[in-house]
Amino acid sequence: MVLFDSHAHYDDKRFDEEFEGGSERAIALSFEKGICGIINVSTNLENAETTIALSEKYDRIYAAVGYHPEDAGYLDEREIDAALEKCETLLSRKKVVAVGEIGLDYHYDASDETKKRQKYFFERQLECAASHSLPAIVHDRDAHGDALEIVKRCVKKSGVTGVFHSFSGSAETARELLSLGWYISFGGPVSYKNAASVKRAAASVPLDRILIETDAPYLPPVPHRGEINYSAYMFDTLKALSDAMGYDEETVAAATVENTKRLFGV
Ligand SMILES: [Zn+2]
Repeated sequence: MVLFDSHAHYDDKRFDEEFEGGSERAIALSFEKGICGIINVSTNLENAETTIALSEKYDRIYAAVGYHPEDAGYLDEREIDAALEKCETLLSRKKVVAVGEIGLDYHYDASDETKKRQKYFFERQLECAASHSLPAIVHDRDAHGDALEIVKRCVKKSGVTGVFHSFSGSAETARELLSLGWYISFGGPVSYKNAASVKRAAASVPLDRILIETDAPYLPPVPHRGEINYSAYMFDTLKALSDAMGYDEETVAAATVENTKRLFGV
């Protein structure tokens, strides 16, 4: 059985500080245990460079370039325009397969000014994805209503497609995204005891739209909570996801690999 990790951050410094052997060993162990591919996702322009370097070093690693909403919230419109211009130049690099991660995060700062900036940058990056015919990888935390509204508007305008990663919305939000042709990805949290609503959302996603991920080094699945998460642990996430969806693990694993390759064109 093989799995494709649709969302990881192997350039995160926690790998070199806390994982024995660093990211290099984490990646090697993951490939050994049956990981057939990894999308490494950037969160700003600096780690976009390290992400691209990683994808150029490993055959089976691909890159996503984008600006995370938490970083975006501190830029003004002029700085956002400059960041977008830089982003655009990186999108033509050969292993870049998506714009991400982009989106909205109102968890730590839900002031009107921050929301306004995040929404502006999110919409511009979705337009950017559409104009480069790339899918978007969306981070949505405590912002389901606004995120859905912006995605809907952009799909209507440009037909942009993509995935909501580490999905934390309701089954209702999932259904709306599915109706727009989008994909939904689940990570470690689907295995958590208190994750009834995440499990319900997973149960509402058909086999041809489901993705699986780590968000490594974050969000390890049960029984690895408190450890550094890496792609090999995704087999534990697979078990919880398959239980929630009501299919056997082989079926879900094969579907997620096929869907990830289709969405990112790899
Ligand atoms: Zn992430």
